[in-house]
Amino acid sequence: MRFELTILGCGSALPANGRNPSSQILRTDKEMVMIDCGEGTQTRMRRYGLKMQSIDIICISHMHGDHYLGLPGLLSSSNLLGRKKEMTIIGPPGIQEMLEMHCRHAGMRFAFPIHYVQTGAKGGDIEMQTKSLRIQGFPLDHKIATTGFRFTEKPRPRRLDPSALERYEVPLKVRGAIARGEDYIRDDGKRIPNETLSSAPRAPRSYAYCSDTAYLESVVEQVHACDALYHECTFMESEKERAERTRHSTAKQAAAIAKEAKVGRLLMGHYSARYDDLRPLLDEARSVFAESHLSEEGMSIDFHRM
Ligand SMILES: [Zn+2]
Repeated sequence: MRFELTILGCGSALPANGRNPSSQILRTDKEMVMIDCGEGTQTRMRRYGLKMQSIDIICISHMHGDHYLGLPGLLSSSNLLGRKKEMTIIGPPGIQEMLEMHCRHAGMRFAFPIHYVQTGAKGGDIEMQTKSLRIQGFPLDHKIATTGFRFTEKPRPRRLDPSALERYEVPLKVRGAIARGEDYIRDDGKRIPNETLSSAPRAPRSYAYCSDTAYLESVVEQVHACDALYHECTFMESEKERAERTRHSTAKQAAAIAKEAKVGRLLMGHYSARYDDLRPLLDEARSVFAESHLSEEGMSIDFHRM
């Protein structure tokens, strides 16, 4: 099954050095999820061959402009293109208010239903099951209520062993039950244990997204052992005091979270406009956690090939 992430923007509040504000796309075979929608996201979707009509769910971390200002434009374009399919928007209550105000002043309405799922007053506090994912929201430590997200594939059925099925003459009609973990009881009452007929599926993939936040210990538990963690690295350690004041993280702090949480890899992002060359941020992160990587616009990560 597909589980693939594409970075559409990994800059911070000011456009600089060719970097755009936050947005990402996570695709499975059944769904397309957008994570944050900074200004100009729809243009970058076009650039990277992604169809906005395919988006099923949009998760917005918080109400700072570099994380949501692309939303009215993206939804208006979807409307113009004739979208009818429902859109789920997960985010702070202000998102619904902002979109309704936009429609009111523009004298328009979206011709497709929008299902709003509101995150908690302090961020986080949501858990939902979609067609292919479990989405969990957890609070981050930023200047306003901000939500981090964890996306986990739904568990897959067990892998059937064709030769064992043949050997024990397992009829087709019970193979679904065996994939769900049941034993096979033959007509003569003999029980064939499930492990004889199938093996465990591979572990579900999971991805966590944390932007924006100061260093926050509770994130370790929320993102524990995920395959990849995107964690903001707005500043270098030399700007630690500024990071603290603005409720952002340094590259080293992000790496410390990744290391503590034993994640597969750290994807760095949300770089401050003051850094043209990102190599020093990478070096700083790698001094703490070797599997640190810079995210870049247009980059795709196939989780099954990691
Ligand atoms: Zn912010």
